[in-house]
Amino acid sequence: MDIQQCQRENENTIIKQKRNKTQTVNKYEILKKYFGYDTFRDAQETLIDSILEGKDTVGIMPTGAGKSLCYQIPALLMNENTGGITLVISPLISLMKDQVGSLNQAGIHAAFLNSSLTAAQYYKALEFARQGRYPIIYVAPERLVTEEFLDFALHSRIAMVAVDEAHCVSQWGQDFRPSYLKITEFINRLPGRPVVSAFTATATKEVRDDIIDLLELQMPTVLTTGFDRGNLYFGVMTVKDRYGAVRNYLETHKEDSGIIYCLTRKHVEEVCERLIKDGFSVTRYHAGLSDGERKKNQDDFIYDRVPVMVATSAFGMGIDKSNVRFVLHFGMPKNLESYYQEAGRAGRDGEPAECILYYAGQDVITNQVFIDHNQDNQELDPVTRAMVQERDRERLKKMTFYCFTNECLRDYILRYFGEYKSNYCGNCSNCLTQFEQADVTEIAKALIGCIGSSRQRYGTTVIIDTVHGANTAKIKSYRMNENPCYAVLSKVPTYRIRQVLNHLQLEEYLFVTTDEYAIVKLTPKSKEIMEDGRQIVMKLAKEADRPVKEAQSRSKKTKTGISGGEPFTEREESLFEKLRALRTEIAREEKVPPYIVFSDKTLTHMCMIRPETREEMLKVSGVGEFKFEKYGERFLRCIEAFEKPLS
Ligand code: ADP
Ligand code: MG
Ligand code: ZN
Repeated sequence: MDIQQCQRENENTIIKQKRNKTQTVNKYEILKKYFGYDTFRDAQETLIDSILEGKDTVGIMPTGAGKSLCYQIPALLMNENTGGITLVISPLISLMKDQVGSLNQAGIHAAFLNSSLTAAQYYKALEFARQGRYPIIYVAPERLVTEEFLDFALHSRIAMVAVDEAHCVSQWGQDFRPSYLKITEFINRLPGRPVVSAFTATATKEVRDDIIDLLELQMPTVLTTGFDRGNLYFGVMTVKDRYGAVRNYLETHKEDSGIIYCLTRKHVEEVCERLIKDGFSVTRYHAGLSDGERKKNQDDFIYDRVPVMVATSAFGMGIDKSNVRFVLHFGMPKNLESYYQEAGRAGRDGEPAECILYYAGQDVITNQVFIDHNQDNQELDPVTRAMVQERDRERLKKMTFYCFTNECLRDYILRYFGEYKSNYCGNCSNCLTQFEQADVTEIAKALIGCIGSSRQRYGTTVIIDTVHGANTAKIKSYRMNENPCYAVLSKVPTYRIRQVLNHLQLEEYLFVTTDEYAIVKLTPKSKEIMEDGRQIVMKLAKEADRPVKEAQSRSKKTKTGISGGEPFTEREESLFEKLRALRTEIAREEKVPPYIVFSDKTLTHMCMIRPETREEMLKVSGVGEFKFEKYGERFLRCIEAFEKPLS
């Protein structure tokens, strides 16, 4: 990694800049100069001001909202004013590398201290830190209370401890890190208490309370923003040939970087192998691979050498790659927390991105088996284990309903996390599908009749096959062909029967057991349909326009950076490709991931403005002075060369 080298190169420039400064800068100037942005986003300014007032501060904002700036900018200002240093605690080496790489690219002096450094590098970095060369230092939590580090910290002025991914302190979350509990011990040993700030994207109340308690925050400013990610399109597809659907998707998104999540290692292997055979450039990641291969594959993906990653949920924590344009789920994850976290890795740069879940009925069974054989729960006592399993089953059910619902998908997710918005987002597969209200009472009656008369002993497929009148060995062996409801729905396609069954489950007219057999049972409400003459009306997609085709243009770059905005012309598209190629070239030279040179958003903005001069280039979002000095001319020349042939 050449961050160290890059740090040295940047050093001279930074020192020069410091000397030239006559008056202190403010937060707006820093935002523009180093990060190249004109305005703060909603919550950023409040959080920054709170920190600058010396208050402990908690920022809970979704992925991609821009949490890093909330502590980086105050860190720079505090350093400017008092020479104090900000320590940023981060759970993963890859995250630290990424952030330090970004800061150095922006011309800000920062370093990380973690186990990826050799002993010699570590001492050298500490030495530089002692000399006050770094306003911002990223530290692994387990380093904090080591002797060498304490020796440095006790003899330096620590202005702030910023805890990134602060949910790692909580046992409630999925990413609990015991070493995070050392943070308070460390803070308490410092001669003066620094400002403590904490940031996470995890929204639940338990986690938030844990952060405040366990980090011993003192009357903190707590700001929670909405969890909506407007630039993400959400879709659910139930298709026979999932592989085919995924392959088609890649075919129409050739240039884009994306992740395909699979439920099992076996699926990862299969999907990856088939895609390679079909000529796609993809790589893979799961816990069964060697450390070496995982690292290599991850780097290939991050550095855009391979655009598509096929992975299990083991992949992703610590991936800050901002230009992930799609996250496909080849199979339904175990709960919405996981889904939203994984899907949320798309579109961190705020540009349109797509999250599509390819659902199949067997996913429920696979997840049930996971829940029943969860190794993490081995040490729990039987009662607690049963409770945890019950909770997991309940979460799985909510996840399954996400795949069934005909209502707005975004709204479904946000409600799950306790946020209530309108039931129409216009950017999910349900909002974009034309539905009609259909009376499905007859289908409901047949299903309930069939379940009742076969004494609630069978799973969904047997029931559906029976009412549809399938002539299979299984149906005969259960003697379901003698059931009074056999073939009463022979004219209704099975997918429709399944939709109605799902709907009845959603509305609690039916109940499917959450063990691995998934038996359909009646509920107290069932008789409302059979006896009370209750009509069942549900939204069904109009046959003509299932939202498959138009999905292909949705993630196209648009001039507003949100889907639905005016799409790029072919010419803009081709300029974008030129700029992207230049970015890749520079990234190779600098040995950093391309998105750290400039984000997709910045390139998009360049295509729209087509700057001809330094001043114009500096207007592009994401082009700060420092980056302009380094790369601005090359991008200007690239744009000029592109424009020339026409003029
Ligand atoms: P988070 O940690 O909240 O997931 P990051 O701090 O990684 O998000 O920021 C996500 C992206 O948003 C980065 O590319 C960052 O440069 C960009 N960003 C942050 N603040 C702003 C802003 N005020 N204007 C434009 N882009 C911003
Ligand atoms: Mg972050
Ligand atoms: Zn919607």
